[in-house]
Amino acid sequence: MRVLILGAGFGGLQLSARLSEELGDDVEVTLIDQADGFVFGFSKLDVMFGRTTEQAVRHSYADVVKPGVRFVSTTIRAIDPVAKRVETDAGSFEGDVLVVALGADLHPEATPGLLEAGYEFYTPDAAFRLRQVLQDFPGGRVIIGVTSTPFKCPPAPSETALLMHDFLAERGLRDRSEIALVMPLGAPIPPSPAASQAILAAFAERGISWHPSTLITRLDPDRKVAVTAAGDEIVFDLFLGVPKHQVPAVVAESGMCVDGWIPVDPLTLQTSYEDVYAVGDVTSVGTPKAGVFSERQADVVADALIARARDQQTASRYDGTGICYLEFGAEEVARVQVTFVSGQPPYGTFDDPSAQLARDKAEFGTSRVRRWFGRDWTSLES
Ligand SMILES: Cc1cc2nc3c(=O)[nH]c(=O)nc-3n(C[C@H](O)[C@H](O)[C@H](O)COP(=O)(O)OP(=O)(O)OC[C@H]3O[C@@H](n4cnc5c(N)ncnc54)[C@H](O)[C@@H]3O)c2cc1C
Repeated sequence: MRVLILGAGFGGLQLSARLSEELGDDVEVTLIDQADGFVFGFSKLDVMFGRTTEQAVRHSYADVVKPGVRFVSTTIRAIDPVAKRVETDAGSFEGDVLVVALGADLHPEATPGLLEAGYEFYTPDAAFRLRQVLQDFPGGRVIIGVTSTPFKCPPAPSETALLMHDFLAERGLRDRSEIALVMPLGAPIPPSPAASQAILAAFAERGISWHPSTLITRLDPDRKVAVTAAGDEIVFDLFLGVPKHQVPAVVAESGMCVDGWIPVDPLTLQTSYEDVYAVGDVTSVGTPKAGVFSERQADVVADALIARARDQQTASRYDGTGICYLEFGAEEVARVQVTFVSGQPPYGTFDDPSAQLARDKAEFGTSRVRRWFGRDWTSLES
C-alpha cells in the first residue's frame, strides 16, 4: 500500500510513525513537508519568553528515519483528490491512499495595522523574533488580542497573558505595566468551566484585565490603538496578536473545502473522496484546532490503514478527546481533559496547576520527539 501524507505536523508525524512501527517495510509511506523541521506550538511561547532557544525546539526532518517512510522536503503546489496525486517543486507523487494533514496557515496581513504596529506570535519565526523584542521591552501597556476565529489552541492567549505577568514581574517591570487579554470567546476555555474559572481567578490575582467576546479588527499604527469589532479603542505599547487562520492555498484550490475547511466523517476522518482522509487543523471535524486532537485523529486513520494492510476490520473511531496542558506561570501547569461528542455539550476534567503537571507536560513533548524523531529531548534545554 502506498500512503501519501501531506504535512509533517502533529498529524502527519504521528500517522507516519504509527504506520512504520506496525507495518515497517510492508507499507510505502511518502511524507511531504516544506518546513525544515517541526516546532511544538507550546515551544513558541518558551522561546518567546526566553525559557529556551530556537535551536533547542526545532526538530529537524532529517531525523525522520523510519522503515517504510520516505520524507520529501518540498512545497506542494496542487492536490488532485480524485487521482490521489500531488504536484510539488520536487515532481509528482501519487498514493493508493492520500492523507491531508496540512494544518492551518496564518495571515497576519489580513488584520490592518497588525504587522506595522504590533506582532503576531503564532508562526515559529515571529514567536522567535519576539524573544528579543520582549527582552528590550521597557514595560507599558500590553495587549494580547485575537483577530479572528477559529484559532489554534484556544488556551494559548490566556497562557501568554499569565507568562507575560511572570516575565514582567521577574524584570521588575510589572508595576509600570498593564496586561489585557482580548478574546472573541465568552470564557478562556469554553468547554471547561472549571479551567475557565481557575484562569479567571489567576487573572484577577495578577491584575490581568480580561475582555471576553471581543474581537480585534485592526490596529491604528499612528495612535497605537487596537480597534474592536464594536468600534471601541484600547491603547497599547506592545500588541501581541493571534492572526487570521485559513487552510493553505493549495488546499483551498483543491476543491476539497466547504466553508473554508475540509469536511470529514467525524468518526473515521474520511473525506468525500474515496481513500482520501484529512486530519487536524485543516478539517472542520468539530474539535478545537490543537495538536493533541490532530494526533488522536491520525491514530484513527493509522488504525484503519493498518487493518486494511492486514486484511482486517477495525472498530477504531475518533472519540473527540484531548488532554491539554495549561501554563499558569510560576513554573506550574494545569491539565484539562475534554471530550467533544457531536450533538452533546463537551465534558471533561480539570486538574489544578502543579509542578508535577509541568513535568508531565515536558514528558508529553519528550515522548513525541522520541517516537517521531528517534532521539531524546528536554523541552526546556537551552
Ligand atoms: C502558541 C501556540 C501554542 C500551542 N500550544 C499547543 C499545546 O500546548 N497543545 C496542543 O495540542 N496544541 C497546541 N498548539 C496547536 C498546535 O500547534 C496545532 O494545532 C497543531 O500543530 C496542528 O497539527 P496539524 O498536524 O493539524 O498541523 P500542523 O502541525 O500545522 O502541520 C501542518 C504541516 O503542513 C506543512 N505544510 C503546509 N502547507 C504546505 C505545502 N503547501 N507544502 C508542504 N508542506 C506544507 C507545514 O509546514 C506543517 O509542517 C499551539 C499552537 C500555538 C500557535
